Amino acid sequence: MDHPARLRRLRELLLAAQGDAFLVSALPNVRYLTGFSGSNALVLVTQKQCVLFTDFRYESQVAEECGAAVEVRIEPSSLWAGLWTVLGADTTLRSVVFEAGHLTVRDMERCRAQGSQWTWRAGASEVETLRATKEPVEIDAIRRAGTVATAALKALLPLVRPGLSELEVCGLLERELRQAGSEAHPFPAIVASGERSALPHARPSARRLRRGDFLLLDFGATVDGYVSDITRTVVLGPPTEAQRAQHALVAAAQEAALRGLRAGMTGKAGDAIARSVIEAAGRGPEFGHSLGHGIGLEVHEDPRLSRLSELPLPEGTVVTVEPGVYSPGMGGVRIEDDVYLTAGGAELLTEFPRELLVIGE
Ligand code: ZN
Ligand code: ZN
Repeated sequence: MDHPARLRRLRELLLAAQGDAFLVSALPNVRYLTGFSGSNALVLVTQKQCVLFTDFRYESQVAEECGAAVEVRIEPSSLWAGLWTVLGADTTLRSVVFEAGHLTVRDMERCRAQGSQWTWRAGASEVETLRATKEPVEIDAIRRAGTVATAALKALLPLVRPGLSELEVCGLLERELRQAGSEAHPFPAIVASGERSALPHARPSARRLRRGDFLLLDFGATVDGYVSDITRTVVLGPPTEAQRAQHALVAAAQEAALRGLRAGMTGKAGDAIARSVIEAAGRGPEFGHSLGHGIGLEVHEDPRLSRLSELPLPEGTVVTVEPGVYSPGMGGVRIEDDVYLTAGGAELLTEFPRELLVIGE
């Protein structure tokens, strides 16, 4: 990970925003800029310095994770006390840009009260903007996280049978993810069966799987801090015609998006590729969420493949492509994969069969 290059790009954005210093409080942004993955940190970036404030617990870890571009300060009391010292030592620093999407109201009040000699200005998600364009090393980590997720799914499916509860299936899935090498569960897995599969963000329940159920599995793996996010919907035993048709429609919508998505088109135009397929089948109202979202150090990042996003999809970004059709009281189907986007098209980072799989027979 080329942290000095990331800091250079942030400094260019800081100059353009006419800020003297950038205060980073969101931990994924701290990690992106410095490599530090601990749970308590503030970072101050100026044209001359990048200072990371953390505490005693991380003294060894921070030294291992941060390169020479980062000055580390282990603060004995509060990270903020360190910040006032560093900011106060350079009288040319007047205007401080903060992360409007992350700094808490309490910390904002702290800044205005103790740092009244500085002008505090809301940033415009500068680090998130940088994060949306992935470097080759990040693509590689996401691809490996995809491989771990698909390996876990491959190991799981033969173990799934009627009679198991969704919670038990989730436990087996989490075990397989760990055994395949996932560092963490990037988000709580969704395991939803039968009519519960029509709840797009269902939590696993005590419901026991029955023959004829759809089983929707939405989960991810984490490798080197980067996540994958994948969904497959399988059926226990032979599917009905209606189940086949529902799955085939979602698969066709996803296929259209995988073929048609390009960097440079708006998020809205990307979303429309899959949505128009579902709408043409008269089932538009059953696809109530967005087509996809960026992934990286977090599971939901910029850019958004959404009906509301007029922003162009950046060259070299990674997004999910996850159309779904949910029929309340009956069942839902979602198919989700992760792709690397360039002007030339979409490259799959998650490889697993996308046709309807029949299991538990
Ligand atoms: Zn997902
Ligand atoms: Zn997703």
